Amino acid sequence: MSEESVDFLDFKLNKQLWSAVADAGYETPTEIQQKAIPLILAGNDVVGVAQTGTGKTAAYLLPLLMKIKYAKGDDPRALIVVPTRELALQVLESIKMLAKYTDLRAVALVGGVGMKTQKDTLAAGVDIVVATPGRLMDMYLPGFLVLKYLQVFVMDEAERLLDMGFRQQIDRMIEVMPRKRQNLLFSATWNAKVQEVSENFLLTPALIRINPEMKTVKSVSQVVYFTPNLRTKINLLDYFIKDITYRKMIIFCKTKTTATNIFKYLDRKYGEDSVRVVHGNKDQNTRINAIKLFKEDKLRFLVATDVAARGIDIEDVSHVFNFEVPLVYEDYIHRIGRTGRAMKLGDSVTFCAPDDEYHLKKIQKLIGDKIPVAAIPTEVEILPTPFEEEQKMRRQIDDQRKREDPTFQGAFHDKKGIQHSKKGDVAKNKNKGKEKKQAKAIARSKAKGKDKGK
Ligand code: AMP
Repeated sequence: MSEESVDFLDFKLNKQLWSAVADAGYETPTEIQQKAIPLILAGNDVVGVAQTGTGKTAAYLLPLLMKIKYAKGDDPRALIVVPTRELALQVLESIKMLAKYTDLRAVALVGGVGMKTQKDTLAAGVDIVVATPGRLMDMYLPGFLVLKYLQVFVMDEAERLLDMGFRQQIDRMIEVMPRKRQNLLFSATWNAKVQEVSENFLLTPALIRINPEMKTVKSVSQVVYFTPNLRTKINLLDYFIKDITYRKMIIFCKTKTTATNIFKYLDRKYGEDSVRVVHGNKDQNTRINAIKLFKEDKLRFLVATDVAARGIDIEDVSHVFNFEVPLVYEDYIHRIGRTGRAMKLGDSVTFCAPDDEYHLKKIQKLIGDKIPVAAIPTEVEILPTPFEEEQKMRRQIDDQRKREDPTFQGAFHDKKGIQHSKKGDVAKNKNKGKEKKQAKAIARSKAKGKDKGK
């Protein structure tokens, strides 16, 4: 199909699917849809490298639904494996939406909830299974799930499946599937692991790359603020929140601890009806409920860690805040992809602490672009860094420098040595030194903003 094809009617779908697409409000197929749908409909194995928010779910679901068409037998003919529960439920929602004029039956097999309902649904007969690898095996091994009638096998967010260590489960699943099947693999990035899996399991696949350079979603604006410490980050966050145009914000944190602290802070300050937190320690129902409330515009803030937020499709997020820079650099792209989805505009704001500058540089290298820097507004109070926080950051910075240059001795560790030998002197000078350093850090964060300001 040519690039100019701009209508879903150009695809060899059927009336039921065209009507559902129209109901969903999709007018023009996205780039991945234009490229993938005809290839999948023609029966090819396909590898799609496309970022989140590009419309990749419908790109594989529409031809899949076309292929299995209507309810038949008891055992699934299509299996979609995804890394997280949230993504599984979201794909199930998309199936329900696109298959609404068919009698196709689908189920999501995910952990964190009891097995009984899922078992009963399987026993009643299903055509499509969406699953996370763990629960899939829990259902398969005791014989609740039969995989021998599979015609289509999809791995969605394959890079994440592999990062999360699901390779062995994938190998086992593939062993029990019929050899003659169509395989589709979607991944936000193309790396050696994904390539190896696609070479092993897919039959001369067609490769579609929508963003070969890993550019960030173009419709999202990006800006970074150099923030010397946690308390200043909170002041800056508060400054944005006062502006009501920041009406639906996801605030990403690196750790569960920070996520919980930010949640508690927002809960105290803006009320419990304004915020929820999602991270790996929250049970499945709490996570689903939080995302549902946020989707329905009943919350202004969702605080999230990367694992919990991965792949979530929430429409109309006004702002993504990176309260902390992610250590898995590709998560930066996934995070900011939560806003500006499907041709809409969105904004992302990143707070970068001194010990995150190293990671920020790596992210910029990955996205092949510099993120514009803005100065902390004068209304925002820049607070001094508490001693412990500063020690922690300096230790991190030392480790980063060592990683880059193994001969580097470590400024921080040296100093610590001196402290041990001249304890009294150091104690006396500690505060003086600390003040100087803080003044320097503040001056640096201000200067950076000014130099490179938007
Ligand atoms: P995905 O990349 O599959 O997570 O899709 C991102 C968002 O784009 C979802 O909210 C879809 O409903 C939406 N979407 C998918 N295809 C289209 C389309 N052709 N036009 C407009 N929105 C779309």
